Amino acid sequence: MEASLTARDRVGIQDFVLLDPYTSETAFLENLKKRFHENLIYTYIGTLLVSVNPCHLIFMHWQTTSSAPCCLSSNNHFILISGESGAGKTEASKKILQFYAVSCPSTKLLNNVRDRLLLSNPVLEAFGNAKTLKNDNSSRFGKYMDIQFDHQGWWQSVVTFSVTCWRSHVLSTRTTERETSTSSISWWREERKNLLRWLGLERNCQHYRYLVQGDCAKVSSINDKSDWRTFSENDIEQLFGIIASVLHLGNIKFEANERGYASLNNNNQEMNWVSKLLGIPTQVLQQGLTHRKIEAKAEEVFSPFSVDHAVHLCRTFNWLVNKINESLVNKDSSRKTVIGLLDIYGFEVFNVNSFEQFCINYCNEKLQQLFIQLTLKSEQEEYEMEGIEWESVPFFNNKIICDLVEEKTQRHHLSIGRGIWRRRSLVIPHFVTHKLADQKTRKTLDRGDFRLLHYAGEVTYCVVGFLDKNNDLLYRNGKEVMRQSKNAIIKLCFPSTEPDSKRRPETVVTQFKSSLVGLTEILMSKEPWYVRCIKPNEAKQPGRFDDVLVRHQMKYLGLMEHLRVRRAGFAYRRKYEIFLQRYKALCPDTWPNWKGTAAEGVHCLVKHMGYTPDEYKMGRTKIFIRHPKTLFATEDAFQVC
Ligand code: ADP
Ligand code: MG
Repeated sequence: MEASLTARDRVGIQDFVLLDPYTSETAFLENLKKRFHENLIYTYIGTLLVSVNPCHLIFMHWQTTSSAPCCLSSNNHFILISGESGAGKTEASKKILQFYAVSCPSTKLLNNVRDRLLLSNPVLEAFGNAKTLKNDNSSRFGKYMDIQFDHQGWWQSVVTFSVTCWRSHVLSTRTTERETSTSSISWWREERKNLLRWLGLERNCQHYRYLVQGDCAKVSSINDKSDWRTFSENDIEQLFGIIASVLHLGNIKFEANERGYASLNNNNQEMNWVSKLLGIPTQVLQQGLTHRKIEAKAEEVFSPFSVDHAVHLCRTFNWLVNKINESLVNKDSSRKTVIGLLDIYGFEVFNVNSFEQFCINYCNEKLQQLFIQLTLKSEQEEYEMEGIEWESVPFFNNKIICDLVEEKTQRHHLSIGRGIWRRRSLVIPHFVTHKLADQKTRKTLDRGDFRLLHYAGEVTYCVVGFLDKNNDLLYRNGKEVMRQSKNAIIKLCFPSTEPDSKRRPETVVTQFKSSLVGLTEILMSKEPWYVRCIKPNEAKQPGRFDDVLVRHQMKYLGLMEHLRVRRAGFAYRRKYEIFLQRYKALCPDTWPNWKGTAAEGVHCLVKHMGYTPDEYKMGRTKIFIRHPKTLFATEDAFQVC
């Protein structure tokens, strides 16, 4: 706003909060595009930073000065980075880390930490990413890390990682989806031959179903054994054993016996390797992969799986990799956490949306709710501090959707009574659709579909497969097998003291929800900052801005909603001193020097400018202006005077 009118026309506005009309998606898009073409890839919505991937290197300093929390602040913060794959999340997190690295006193040790942090990203991605129909390398997980500072703003040498365990990511909705990412194989350079022999692996990654869809040769950002410094030799050995087992498992071929049940050839090479590497007797493994245990009247009965089930079970073993990630993180909670970085996948909508989309979208819904709560809370606090009366402004509160999913909805309210996830028998309520979806579109639903009106738009989910994916019986089987493993890491992940298998196992969703609740608790205790990354075109071409694609992301990143919440109160606020200093020339009484208090000066100034009482409020230390146009008029007057 310090820029001239012409500059504003040319490069757009730097903060969407000043966009007028702020409800216009087209105006939003145009502003983003204008700035993109000027290589201004960052635009604010209050404290949220929208970043558009320039798809080429631009030399500029990151605008973190006002959009990143200060490491000297006594409060804890979190920065949530979201966006589609390829939108620039990793780049953004690198820039954030670099920002802290330069703004903190740096030593060799600290640089080392930063490097390790940056290098570990591909490792995490190798474990957590997967190929989906839409993205070759899409994060199917939320990645959370804490950057810790001591009271002097020194970056401490301890950084904690954790991967929020979206177990749904290993659940396959379609057979072409989701093979774990491939970079793991490229780590093995030194001693590769021996290692491969020991693991029973082929050198050619094309041999493995889980790897064939990736481009192994290209992923080489981690190729040095020293990247594994954080782990002990023994850990590495055990870990490789697990990775290799997952690859072997992926190659197991099941045959259908005469009754259509899954069976395994006794002399199955892959199975023998898994058995050897994990230290699980072949018998147990074979039984576990083809049968499930059901308890009937104190008797144990093994009921055979269909081939589909067996294959599915095999795939779900990938999720243990997530577990391992969790167990290897440094959980030193005694240190003071200051800034958390969370990198998650945004809202997801395909032509056919299944259980996985449901989980991801619910997660986003929850984060949106958190945003609403935190933003409104901080707005409210500021108004209170400034002695300004809080006037609530209506906006779409998505709490109703979260409640629906979380079983909190009252029977009389939505006639659901139970949340969608409550029952194993997963009664997908058609009436949810009827209550929540747009009346016009209601008719187009197929049987077995339901539609939710998310904050980012309507999504129709197909319930086919929901039940199987949510049901933990398959996992329970897997867990029981894993408990017998001799591998030290697996032993840690599957303690035999876990709740007895006779208890009804938790559903996937129950576990998913509790990991979200955990995450929400961490975030609630911190001050929020947001970075939303946008991919301007699919081809990653510099200078190309695809309106349709960007509009889509704007929607699913909830940018318009975000702006709406931000604008629920006053668009602009400034300390009296700063405001007066800038505009005092506009009023003969305040120019050149105002003798009274800054607040009085501002009051005199805005009176002179003809502000109506509805347009502004005077707080204790700041002036609050409701609409940008009031401010722009003042700014324009300033430019010509
Ligand atoms: P994501 O983590 O969201 O999948 P990345 O951060 O890996 O996406 O970005 C993909 C690619 O886009 C990067 O490898 C880089 O070439 C380019 N890119 C992303 N952000 C920027 C940026 N701020 N400046 C220049 N290039 C960028
Ligand atoms: Mg990334």
